[in-house]
Amino acid sequence: MRQSSTLIPTLREVPADAEVKSHQLLLRAGYMRQNSSGIYSFLPLGKRVLQKVEQIVREEMDRAGSVELLMPALQQSELWQESGRWYSYGPELMRMKDRHQREFALGATHEEVITSLLRDEVKSYKRLPLNLYQIQTKFRDEKRPRFGLLRGREFIMKDAYSFHASQESLDEVYDKMYDAYSRIFARCGLNFRAVIADSGAMGGKDTHEFMVLSEIGEDTIAYSDTSSYAANIEMAPVVATYEKENATAHSLEKVETPNQRTIEEVAGFFNVNEAKCIKSLLFKVDDRYVLVLVRGDHEVNDIKVKNYLEASVVELASPEETKEVMNCTVGSLGPIDLAENIEVIADHGVEAVVNGICGANEEGYHYKGVNPERDFKAQYVDLRFVKEGDPSPDGQGVIKFAKGIEVGHVFKLGTRYSEAMNATYLDENGRTQPMTMGCYGIGVSRTLAAIAEQYNDENGLVWPTAVAPYHVHLIPVNMKNEEQKEVAEQLYNELLDSRYEVLLDDRQERPGVKFADSDLIGVPVRVTIGKRASEGIVEVKVRATGEQLEVAVSDLPQTIN
Ligand code: ATP
Ligand code: MG
Ligand code: MG
Ligand code: MG
Repeated sequence: MRQSSTLIPTLREVPADAEVKSHQLLLRAGYMRQNSSGIYSFLPLGKRVLQKVEQIVREEMDRAGSVELLMPALQQSELWQESGRWYSYGPELMRMKDRHQREFALGATHEEVITSLLRDEVKSYKRLPLNLYQIQTKFRDEKRPRFGLLRGREFIMKDAYSFHASQESLDEVYDKMYDAYSRIFARCGLNFRAVIADSGAMGGKDTHEFMVLSEIGEDTIAYSDTSSYAANIEMAPVVATYEKENATAHSLEKVETPNQRTIEEVAGFFNVNEAKCIKSLLFKVDDRYVLVLVRGDHEVNDIKVKNYLEASVVELASPEETKEVMNCTVGSLGPIDLAENIEVIADHGVEAVVNGICGANEEGYHYKGVNPERDFKAQYVDLRFVKEGDPSPDGQGVIKFAKGIEVGHVFKLGTRYSEAMNATYLDENGRTQPMTMGCYGIGVSRTLAAIAEQYNDENGLVWPTAVAPYHVHLIPVNMKNEEQKEVAEQLYNELLDSRYEVLLDDRQERPGVKFADSDLIGVPVRVTIGKRASEGIVEVKVRATGEQLEVAVSDLPQTIN
């Protein structure tokens, strides 16, 4: 590619509202431009890196037995109503109406679409397992879009979904996906760690996140210094196993509940699986308002865990927002630092949101089975209350903390969607069974930014070759010099013939500008065609190490190989 005919609008200044390196450099080096908050254009260089990452993802997914398809981004609301997520996903789901006033969502994820597809197309155990993926634009109206591509409102995701006739089959494919993810992020050159993630009621082993280690990461990882234990501290403590005899959730009993509750009591078990909201509590925490929506009545995965409850904690600007939030219910917004003591302002009835179970809104009545200490023994340590130096839950070391960027997430869904949406197959005995499912996501555009975050120096980006937009950056120092121009043209064509990806800076710019741009752009190998071009000598510089050597033009292809 000739630089004179492409669009690489580099900037000398650090853009004002770009806080992190990847965001600053991807803007400064002309890889992307913001269109509106959390929404970006990929310029030609950005698009090339994106394609490189996508290609790695494709190769590893294909190799692991997943097959690519493409589903619509525009999704009818009926599907989301069937799964229940139309009500539980919250304001992150972008909703719209068509000209006939029919409601649609812009795909934030595709469990509903693919489950409806498979329920129509797959009827027999003989067609299972199936593992399908797509690479596509996703839409999420994030509360705080930030850090450029790291948290966008429109972003590129690879999402895969697997369908099975048994838990063993899911376990097998899950492990394959886990391995594929490890290879993908390793090929991208990332320093990452797979951690146990929050799977709600099911504890740890059914979901992992792939975290790129970075100080600017929004997630906190608790890991053991001497064993392989690592977990997202979001991981809820809830009920993998609990003492059943003591668990009486859904049984309405009068229990003593003092007006002052501790944070552990209400927030020690929030998050995850969508279920019916059955109770809401509004708290004032210092100057902030926090709505706790307790949810429950659900069977999770194949293992029937009944009678568990969980809750979402949502920060509100004012108590007036309560109704609004409850009307579309909420997604989980992650941990919020709550003060030690919280004051109950009001218990809100939630009849409007709930179909059914509302008894607990009666004065003085509360669900039992929700309090880890009182009602059951939680198997998992609540990592949000763990301190550095505490024993790690596997007993093999002590806890340390690190920050991570979630680039991938693998999850055993079980029959959560297939049951809600009636995606069944006939088993060997002719019996109707719900399909068992897994889902596997990679933030492709976020991965690009995470690489930029780990690969840069004071002069700009320093791409690993596997994802670099070009392999070689050719720089004739003076385009008015016919000899230099000629050697540059010759090398450009030879390198292209040898299948190198080459960027040729054929602009009539000062050398200083060309070199500064080249450092910013971060192509792994720079070839400078300068004064000694007449002798057939050019200079090779390795971007990552700064190593320089003079090379005869005829030796160049072998040298950079
Ligand atoms: P996060 O915790 O960062 O909000 P998530 O858990 O909501 O992410 P998933 O639903 O697991 O995200 O989606 C799969 C992958 O998509 C994530 O692992 C992440 O890499 C990517 N992703 C999610 N949200 C965004 C976003 N707003 N911008 C860019 N990538 C995203
Ligand atoms: Mg999210
Ligand atoms: Mg997450
Ligand atoms: Mg996730």
